[in-house]
Amino acid sequence: MERKRRFPINLYNRLEEKLRNKSEENNAEAVAVETSAAEEKKIKCPKCGKMVERDRVVKHKYICYECGGYFRVKTNNRIRMVADPKTFEPWFEDMEVSNPLDFNGYEEKLAAAREKTGLKEAVTVGRCKVFGDDIVLGVCDSRFMMSSMGHVVGEKITKAIEHATELKLPVFIFCCSGGARMQEGIISLMQMAKTSAAIKKHGDAGLLYCSILTDPTTGGVTASFAMLGDVIMAEPGALIGFAGPRVIKQTIGQELPEGFQTAEFLVEHGFVDGIVERENLKKTIHFLIRSHQCVGKKTYNAFGEEAANFQFALSENLKEQSWNATPRTAWEKVKAVRQVDRPSAMDYMSHIFDSFVEAHGDRGFNDDKALIGGIGFIGEQPVTVIADLKGSSFAECQERNFGMPLPEGYRKALRLMKQAEKFNRPIVSFVNTSGAFCGIEAEERGQGEAIAKNLLEMSGLKVPVLCILIGEGGSGGAIATAVGNEVWMMENATYSILSPEGFASILWKDSSRAQEASEVMNITAQDLKRLGVIERIVPEFGGADAQTADAIAGYMKKHIMEFLAKYNDMSGEEIAAERYQRFRNF
Ligand SMILES: [Zn+2]
Repeated sequence: MERKRRFPINLYNRLEEKLRNKSEENNAEAVAVETSAAEEKKIKCPKCGKMVERDRVVKHKYICYECGGYFRVKTNNRIRMVADPKTFEPWFEDMEVSNPLDFNGYEEKLAAAREKTGLKEAVTVGRCKVFGDDIVLGVCDSRFMMSSMGHVVGEKITKAIEHATELKLPVFIFCCSGGARMQEGIISLMQMAKTSAAIKKHGDAGLLYCSILTDPTTGGVTASFAMLGDVIMAEPGALIGFAGPRVIKQTIGQELPEGFQTAEFLVEHGFVDGIVERENLKKTIHFLIRSHQCVGKKTYNAFGEEAANFQFALSENLKEQSWNATPRTAWEKVKAVRQVDRPSAMDYMSHIFDSFVEAHGDRGFNDDKALIGGIGFIGEQPVTVIADLKGSSFAECQERNFGMPLPEGYRKALRLMKQAEKFNRPIVSFVNTSGAFCGIEAEERGQGEAIAKNLLEMSGLKVPVLCILIGEGGSGGAIATAVGNEVWMMENATYSILSPEGFASILWKDSSRAQEASEVMNITAQDLKRLGVIERIVPEFGGADAQTADAIAGYMKKHIMEFLAKYNDMSGEEIAAERYQRFRNF
């Protein structure tokens, strides 16, 4: 079946194969070294070692045109990549030098770094515009004493964040660092707690903080402001780790696997939301500003009228069919929703949302591909989207574990839903799973706890939550993302306490009686509407497939807008209370 994807799902999460094998080279000194006068127009690529034309590299945002490797970027060039021309206004440039431990030779070292870089310290902070929107920007520069964090670096970052809190502005910091500044000893260590505390206050004010990790981000900086972003992005191939590879090797003599501590490794292990390539950097930052701007605003009011006027494409062929043209038995529905070519959440999402950016990881263990999440837009309205994905090819099914999430999937979903609440974004959750994954690793990592925690936290979310069961709704694994103010089901979807096979096996000790079980279990949308378990049945116009997917998505979009409009005049507390009552009634 042809899959329609009108927007790239991976705007900033491309796990490029070519970058996976680069960890070794990435550890090499990556600052461009200018060559002798005879070859002044050429520079040596720090990744592939080839002599490349300087002008071409500069034009290509400091990316090697031979190998795709990223050059480290000077502060001014980074600001140029992000800020609208002539909008950057530096802050706190004249902060006094500190040498708190009277460390011998430190002041001379600072003076030399200043001379070499033209910077006053390793971090530059200030305010600028990105496509017209105001942000507070911080840029670390590895040329200045490996961008280590001493008092002045910590103080500039802290003051910038405090200032952003007063001005109600989002903060974006480009991190890179060798760690704490040794010459400042314990005072340097204190900067970790100080910068983190400022981020906490900024976050408590409902404001966005985003860190972008560049090569290399290590030591005390990863253990403080670098890893505390609401959204954490990283540049391809960047080395990121608390203890750098050399420290690990020297300390415990352990050999590190290939690709260890790269940006890509951190995405796979759930600590980074996604990789951002320089081509997409500014527009990704703008996307993030726009999708986190709705704090304290009610933005659903336009949807009432829009929903009423919204016409979704329904071909003549489909119009002729009754919306329930092919009533199916429960068993036929069970079989239908298990078909691999049944449209996935992504097929509907690509029609409903004008853009979508996926966010990865539970920030604890892994990035579960069976349960994805991110931010999409309906018009100007950002929406947090959660979706089970089973995969459409065999390879994709394996990668997505056939749509059976592990605990880290539920934890990622919860992380993103809590973030939606912080930024006042409504949530739409597409449910399609035969169940939570059942196996050793799921139990080891607390499958039951992860599901329970979602039920607990989702019940109190102060934003509207809409859940749509589009295929199989298997047991605890489904309800873990289905605690909504409304729950809808597609005409042929099923939702049950367990599979008909499991039911027959437990009740009648005979799993071959699954068909019989399906008829008595009340698992169809029609049964569940009657029982009051769901609010709406989404028509399939004869059956969900490649031909009907757009019409089904159009129907969903119209009614999602209607759903949102309903919450325009309700407070967060009222929205949560309504959801509480909905489940309290059962
Ligand atoms: Zn190269």
